[in-house]
Amino acid sequence: MLNRQGRPTTPHAAANSAVTGTITGNRGLQMEEALIFEIGEEGRTGVDLPDAPKVKDRLGGLKRQGRIGLPGLSEPQVVRHFVRLSQKNYSIDAGLYPLGSCTMKHNPRLNEKMARLPGLGDIHPLQPASTVQGALELIDQLAGWLKTLTGMPAVAMSPAAGAHGELCGLMAIRAALKARGDVRKRILAPESAHGTNPATAALCGYTVDPIPATAEGRVDLDALQAKLGPDVAAIMLTNPNTCGLFERDIKTVADMVHAAGAFFYCDGANFNAIVGKVRPGDLGIDAMHINLHKTFSTPHGGGGPGSGPVVLSDALKDFVPVPYVVHGSDGYRLVESGDAKSFGRMKAFNGQMGMFIRALAYMMSHGADGLKRVAEDSVLSANYVMASLKDVMTPSFEGPCMHEALFDDRFLKDTGVTTLDFAKAMIDEGYHPMTVYFPLVVHGAMLIEPTESESKDSVDAFVTTLRGLAEKAKQGDQVAWFQAAPQLTPRRRLDETRAARSPVLRWKPGSNGAPIDKAAAE
Ligand SMILES: *Cc1c(COP(=O)(O)O)cnc(C)c1O
Repeated sequence: MLNRQGRPTTPHAAANSAVTGTITGNRGLQMEEALIFEIGEEGRTGVDLPDAPKVKDRLGGLKRQGRIGLPGLSEPQVVRHFVRLSQKNYSIDAGLYPLGSCTMKHNPRLNEKMARLPGLGDIHPLQPASTVQGALELIDQLAGWLKTLTGMPAVAMSPAAGAHGELCGLMAIRAALKARGDVRKRILAPESAHGTNPATAALCGYTVDPIPATAEGRVDLDALQAKLGPDVAAIMLTNPNTCGLFERDIKTVADMVHAAGAFFYCDGANFNAIVGKVRPGDLGIDAMHINLHKTFSTPHGGGGPGSGPVVLSDALKDFVPVPYVVHGSDGYRLVESGDAKSFGRMKAFNGQMGMFIRALAYMMSHGADGLKRVAEDSVLSANYVMASLKDVMTPSFEGPCMHEALFDDRFLKDTGVTTLDFAKAMIDEGYHPMTVYFPLVVHGAMLIEPTESESKDSVDAFVTTLRGLAEKAKQGDQVAWFQAAPQLTPRRRLDETRAARSPVLRWKPGSNGAPIDKAAAE
């Protein structure tokens, strides 16, 4: 857009104008938009308030002296500002979101409707329990579904995300070990583990010891046996693992870990692939978080928040965090203190209530048979992608996958095109890239998770696009085209390292606009 002086609003817009040839730097519906501080003006307002009545000043010396410096805009300016920003955002409502490990599935509108019911949407966690019996019953019912689906006797509902659930699980394990007078120092985690696993272990004061994978992408049992010992507190294992493969020896792993006096933490972020089919409790797992925002379709990314309840085995169930819901003759109530074994509290209040409502709505609308279909269809979708691409891209492991298909960059060998270039080219085609360079156990990883919520038509269109890009990369003379991608987005290739190492988090007048857009800067 143009600013008050009739120039493109930001240095980015000016750079874009040079590329697009448009006066504004806009590309049709993709409009340049400056920061709200740059377009706003102090004193401009969209509301008409009466003068404040004269009252005796009781602020004493605390009264603000200077101006607050907030930008002022009219209502239409505010609306347009945020609508334009939202149009720059890729979303699950706009297209297939193939991020492996993230399970970006459709967020059913029924869930949203339920979460907005006044009796659920307008309540407050500090209300007396007698006035929120329905809400407490809902938490209890969801807990019941989670325990049934996992075959576990207890669940901690309050963790606010998967990583927070991992923390909850390890704190329960630490408390259980302490209760038996056993202090252990090491956590074992496979090399392919999600980064949150070692981070959680480190946060809990443990050292992390990696377990190598076999050539088939699964835990190496001999290596595991060699690493087990009296100082190992737990193993953290993901199943299906982050290569999209089921750990077939998981019961043996559980037996080995328990024989060494350690606990078995399972990262359940990939529960999507086995929900209704496999009960983690039957596999010997002691603690597992469930990402409601993955398996049970609650929104994540910009629309979150996440929610990561943790199911616990008999050995850990006494060490749950507070608060938890109990049911007696006087109805439902929350136990908030006085539980001597509980390791304490994970967060304020009871957990992500809005997400509990959405997740339960998802479960009830599918029913037990429908949830089984979820797992079957998510696995079918991923295998369809794998089978449709395996002649032009390189699957990392032999055989069928679970809910996500892992490829590596061998098909790009000698083309000069990297995994990153390939992913950036997808953006120009209107797709969010898949997860790239994770898991670390294969070179130039591309992890694709279509989920069960995509139609065959949309998966086919996606496959056709990737086939086209793979064939283009192999032509040999397209390196420059790939390296220039994305060319059609409002911003092009960002200097991601610089953005991460020296983030500009605070706007100062005149400070904006040092471009981190490599293409624009050149
Ligand atoms: C998503 C994910 C996590 C972390 O969950 P958050 O809710 O993002 O904190 C952990 N492990 C695996 C395998 C995941 O896919």
